[in-house]
Amino acid sequence: MRMKLLAAALTAAAATLTFTTSAQASHSWGGYHWARTSSPFTLKLGDNLSSGWKSYLSTASSDWSSSAVLDTTVVTGQSNSACRATSGRVEVCNSTYGSNGWLGLASISLSGGTHISSGTVQVNDTYFNTSTYNTAAYRTMVMCQEVGHTFGLDHQDTNQTNANLGTCMDYTNNPSGPPSNLHPNSHDYSQLSSIYSHLDSTGTVGLTKAVPAVGNSKASWGKRMEHSDESGVDTYVRDFGKGEKVITFVYWAN
Ligand SMILES: [Zn+2]
Ligand SMILES: [Zn+2]
Repeated sequence: MRMKLLAAALTAAAATLTFTTSAQASHSWGGYHWARTSSPFTLKLGDNLSSGWKSYLSTASSDWSSSAVLDTTVVTGQSNSACRATSGRVEVCNSTYGSNGWLGLASISLSGGTHISSGTVQVNDTYFNTSTYNTAAYRTMVMCQEVGHTFGLDHQDTNQTNANLGTCMDYTNNPSGPPSNLHPNSHDYSQLSSIYSHLDSTGTVGLTKAVPAVGNSKASWGKRMEHSDESGVDTYVRDFGKGEKVITFVYWAN
């Protein structure tokens, strides 16, 4: 009897393992989320972009607004290419940031635990102006993915050479597919519903407060907390003390 129970428990454990390593795995980014007192909530995406990027932000905004738990609106940016964070919202920026290795960056500031109090997205024209990345597909995917990170979503997959999962949260060398990785998929929407299934007693959306900011150089991002060899995805954390942190997700160019 004992052995049988143990065998059953092992099978259940194995089944759980298989399940969690599949594409259906949770891809919440550290449980980070905007605090809200009601649902759905609307997050402002500040447009600090040059004209060539605006349509990509508007596509990402409407794609993510299909989520049942959040809406996004594109508003006039309060920053510039330096992309200093504004509390309670997301600033989206582009520039020729230089041959520093990164194609896209998403950062979130955290206040006292897992609540996001600001977000930034930066796309690097130094690489997007090269033939490899100067495609509508790459621009659509990277904008979608970086904006997705500012809600608390991680990647679904970081292997660049396996088959596409059909979501912008999947790393690939072939964004247009098939299947294409240009937009979120149903798993992203269910993950958002799960991250935002609770309400908080106070909100961070739209909140006005001082938020710490990092720059767009590696030296300002703090300590590397996560690294994937297969894709070179890196996550950094800079601790400003008193529960204030900034986490930066880096999409390295090949
Ligand atoms: Zn919460
Ligand atoms: Zn990413």
